Amino acid sequence: MPELSKRTESFTDSVIRRMTRVSLKYGAVNLSQGFPDFKPPREILDRLAEVTKEDFHQYSITWGAQNFREALAGKQSRLMGRTIDPNGEIVVTCGSTEAMMTAMMMVTNPGDKVVVFSPFYENYGADAILTGADPIYVPLYPPEFNFRPEELEAAFMQHPKALILCNPSNPCGKVFTMEELKFIAYLAEKYDTFVITDEVYEHIVYEPNRHIYFASLPGMWERTISCSSLSKTYSITGWRLGYVIAPPHIIDTAKKVHDFLTVGAAAPLQEAAVTGLKFGEEYYRELQQKYTGKRDLFLKGLDDIGIEHTVPQGAYYVLLDVSRFGFDSDLEFCEVLAREVGVGAVPGSSFFREPVNHLIRMHFAKKDETLIEALNRLEGIRHKIPVRK
Ligand code: GLN
Repeated sequence: MPELSKRTESFTDSVIRRMTRVSLKYGAVNLSQGFPDFKPPREILDRLAEVTKEDFHQYSITWGAQNFREALAGKQSRLMGRTIDPNGEIVVTCGSTEAMMTAMMMVTNPGDKVVVFSPFYENYGADAILTGADPIYVPLYPPEFNFRPEELEAAFMQHPKALILCNPSNPCGKVFTMEELKFIAYLAEKYDTFVITDEVYEHIVYEPNRHIYFASLPGMWERTISCSSLSKTYSITGWRLGYVIAPPHIIDTAKKVHDFLTVGAAAPLQEAAVTGLKFGEEYYRELQQKYTGKRDLFLKGLDDIGIEHTVPQGAYYVLLDVSRFGFDSDLEFCEVLAREVGVGAVPGSSFFREPVNHLIRMHFAKKDETLIEALNRLEGIRHKIPVRK
């Protein structure tokens, strides 16, 4: 038999998604792959029911249904502080996963370098391999997960084509400050690079932190490819609706790449999601309050049990320190945790470039009762997982 391609040899399937399967296998409360177990807004679901009887069953325009792009442009223009053209500055994709891949394919030639902060969302590693780009990892230092300006500049001195900015950040929960973003902008200009953002947690930010769209910084619109999605904001991760926002000459290229990758996002789902894109500010305020409540509940529970953890400024992930259990492999720890304690988590090593094996990631995008059940199970963790010497 002939061999399969070299480019697929150096990465595995997603560990995040694998841990969902492990959780299912052991009947664990699944706090691994980040998705809600509560319902999307009723108005969106009601509209979806209507849409099935209307005429949205064939392809939409490949770069996104007109109605969807117009509603999205309205929302994002308000948030990003500039008028976004629904026809020339948006491509609707199958989730931000496709948006990011499209951005990487547009920007890099094989062998080009891309700056990635570590810890990072695991897709960026695979995106780089599939596009032939070469990541330069720049560490974020706990507890605040700050970068060192001199280390970031050293990475830019290697002439990368782009920097990937996940803000708010998965998995560490960092929300970049204006000062940090301005420094990144200064480097992007000085070394003439693109910035590809992943802003899917834009509406999940805890007081007193604020999300700042990188594209809204002075001079940055021209070189920023903003990627995001509706998954987290409207609790519809399974709908796979994402998008790229960028200046027209970049979007022209994004349209081509997207067209040949997937043709288009699901037409009926785009139509139903328009309802969400038209929600008023109240919706986003309530979403933030809801997640603040979940964060407080879950972190307090961990404190009561005595498990050390990060305190996220945004997004819905927390890194737990499990070094006391003495495992060499965090992957094995997560398997034992799912089997013996009944809680699913993602090994921290899937997110770090550095050799880290003492952290695991959990998320709290779950009903309060689900979080309480997980905490009840975690209470017994010390008895159920013997310490390894
Ligand atoms: N972004 C979510 C996570 O990090 C879901 C990832 C996925 O499976 N697409 O868990």
